[in-house]
Amino acid sequence: MTARILDGAKIRDQIFAELSDEIRLLTSAGVRPGLAAVLVGENPASQLYVKSKIAACEQLGLASALLTPPATATTLEMLAVIEDLNRANDIDGILIQLPLPAQVDTKRILEAVDPAKDVDGFHPVNLGRLVSGRPGLVACTPAGCMEILRRNENQIEGANAVVLGRSDIVGKPMALLLMHANATVTICHSKTRDLPDVLRRADIVVAAMGKAGFVQPDWIKPGSAVIDVGTNRVTDPKEAERLFRDFPDRLEKFRAKGSALVGDVHPGAIHTAGALTPVPGGVGPLTITMLMSNTVKAARLRRASPRFSATQSTASAR
Ligand code: NAP
Repeated sequence: MTARILDGAKIRDQIFAELSDEIRLLTSAGVRPGLAAVLVGENPASQLYVKSKIAACEQLGLASALLTPPATATTLEMLAVIEDLNRANDIDGILIQLPLPAQVDTKRILEAVDPAKDVDGFHPVNLGRLVSGRPGLVACTPAGCMEILRRNENQIEGANAVVLGRSDIVGKPMALLLMHANATVTICHSKTRDLPDVLRRADIVVAAMGKAGFVQPDWIKPGSAVIDVGTNRVTDPKEAERLFRDFPDRLEKFRAKGSALVGDVHPGAIHTAGALTPVPGGVGPLTITMLMSNTVKAARLRRASPRFSATQSTASAR
């Protein structure tokens, strides 16, 4: 068996096309959705992430603003920045690029964001709405995983779903989304006993642990849907051998480049799963896509007249 590849870039393009229509309608009614990104200091990885988020805004015709407080910014200075953004009517989404410098109280900053503009879905108010099944802004990566499952017509209702990882930004919201979609959900973590046994009963696996190729192919129930959130950079040649033994092309690329991106699921799972997201190119493209979708949704809910609910795109309606 070879798994069907769940191509994240293809789903991103679909959702972008839907969002473009919605953005055009909103803009022509005087509500151009806008995202503000707050990037503190000069962390190269953070700069790259923010750059691609701003580029996605530009591609879609969303307004964007980039605020760059210095690496020495204090919690109080950051709170003042957030307060201004909360008050700005043309800003619908506020994105605080993490990590923040050590002297800044990250929890306090994230909780200062107006929940109506919390397009990352990290605010306790939005998490609470998710728990109680009320509409709100949902964390982008788990929301993207749900889009992958739904748009590939994977059966969620009644399925046994196993979520590997219980972080606030991926595992927990993912488990809640699957539960609200009527899956029977098991959440696993580092203290879970006999993980392979739990996994072998799963129709849907969402792996978000941050451990390269940890989930072995024979832990996967044949034919199941596997969503691999893990994004791990492998640089050790021995580890690359272990992961890419049956994938000479990937091993060759690793040797040429000296590193490779790998998910939490061993690439050999392609021979047991029924459907599988690749790393890279699976969940990754959906995270920025859902940030765009949340920004449009936030603009619609906060500023547009109720008649716009009839024109909303599928992703931003959820
Ligand atoms: P995290 O906060 O480090 O959480 C990892 C989770 O995995 C924890 O709940 C931990 O359990 C669990 N875990 C660790 N070792 C385990 C083991 N041996 N068996 C079972 N569970 C284990 O990570 P995260 O922020 O959720 O991210 C997870 C992965 O997703 C990372 O690779 C990250 O880079 C990736 N990610 C990708 C995207 C994307 O856009 N593609 C977005 C976000 C994250 P405990 O709670 O017991 O410690």
